[in-house]
Amino acid sequence: MCGIVGVSNFDRAAETAYLGLYALQHRGQEATGIAAVDGGRATLHKAHGLVMDGFDEESLSQLDGRVAIGHTRYSTAGGKGLENAQPIMVRYHQGDLVLVHNGNLTNAQTVREELVREGALFQSSVDSEVIVHLIARSRMSTPDEQIHDALSQLVGAFCVIISVGDTLYGARDPWGFRPLVLGRKGDGYVFASETCALDLIGAELLEEVSPGEIIKIENGRLTSLPRLAPAGEVAPCIFELVYFARPDSKVWGVSVDRARRAFGRQLARENPVQADCVFSVPDSSNSAALGYAEESGIPYELGLIRNHYVGRTFIHPTQAGRDFRVRIKYNAVREVIDGQRVVVVDDSLVRGTTSRGLIALIREAGAREVHFRVASPPVVSPCYYGIDMPTREELIGAQKSVEEIRAHLNVDSLGYLSRDGMTDAVREYGPFCDACFGGHYAAPLVDLERHLPVSSHC
Ligand code: SF4
Repeated sequence: MCGIVGVSNFDRAAETAYLGLYALQHRGQEATGIAAVDGGRATLHKAHGLVMDGFDEESLSQLDGRVAIGHTRYSTAGGKGLENAQPIMVRYHQGDLVLVHNGNLTNAQTVREELVREGALFQSSVDSEVIVHLIARSRMSTPDEQIHDALSQLVGAFCVIISVGDTLYGARDPWGFRPLVLGRKGDGYVFASETCALDLIGAELLEEVSPGEIIKIENGRLTSLPRLAPAGEVAPCIFELVYFARPDSKVWGVSVDRARRAFGRQLARENPVQADCVFSVPDSSNSAALGYAEESGIPYELGLIRNHYVGRTFIHPTQAGRDFRVRIKYNAVREVIDGQRVVVVDDSLVRGTTSRGLIALIREAGAREVHFRVASPPVVSPCYYGIDMPTREELIGAQKSVEEIRAHLNVDSLGYLSRDGMTDAVREYGPFCDACFGGHYAAPLVDLERHLPVSSHC
């Protein structure tokens, strides 16, 4: 998962992109970068870590131009070098080309093999670089055709923002796995992963880029290129609603907060319990816990406090980092918990390590009973479309029964939201991909079926 933003027709465009990245920080904390384009020439600045640490007045002041593209990245282990950070910038025969990508291609290794056979030299290990090579090596004559030609050869999840000279493009794969929206502020246009970036920039939402759509912005004019061939089905990621997107964003046409409340209400209907209070595992579960409290009538409390100066554990790339972070990231509020029967609502259960640590904290704070509720179904299969999930062996939902998980977590009861309950709660905005919950993989897993390594995610 990554956050991407692209702006066109703004004075000091890099500063606008910087604001957008600030709002998309939750989508990646390993590295960040902005490229700005001035008179067709691109300048790039990349850095490890958070947006606030990666840029200062001086680095931003060197990014001149009315077009800018930015990226926040998280990486899998082994992919942490700055050469794997984005934007990717190359100078090719049509001018300077800059690209950012959110998603994961399922045929990247297959395409890469072919390109290497033809003499292409790769500088990074990320799948996004194959897109740049495909554009630069396309036999088509115009950048519009070359971009269309390149994107047509990709399988899997991609939202891309590309600049060729001063022209900006935003595109989404035909399955529509990851979100990308288009906004406007005055004469300027903004592409961003989520609407919360538009809010911070002060741009109004024009539309969600549709699956297979390629939008071009040139000299303040908006046009659409021919669509990519339909994939046969659309499959936006339901996990964006469950966990990834910010609750103040609108994703897939629905407020993320409202979707999570609906999950929480349905969870309460499916898994009622007698208890004294409900609280969330902050922050991504807040809305679902509110929904559970609304539906059950059990008072909502703040039982766990999150230290906001620590990154989100799920997206930290190493297991050692995750275990360490559970203890420093949360604390229990004894005054809320001591002697009480508590319902703890979490958005999802992936490995179970974070939750187990949290339950221990809650028990130490004196809870009389702990009832754990998960506002999504068990995660039983890995994601190959851009979410860094563990292998099936590490997914607790794939390895243990609900009763075994309950015992492992040391809770009095455990209840998941059902798959039908989840999809029914947001059915009017679907259909969705729910492959990691035991659903079906909409885009072919080309590399996996050829036993090639799965590429780095973003
Ligand atoms: Fe989203 Fe899961 Fe589908 Fe991946 S497999 S795109 S996380 S719903």
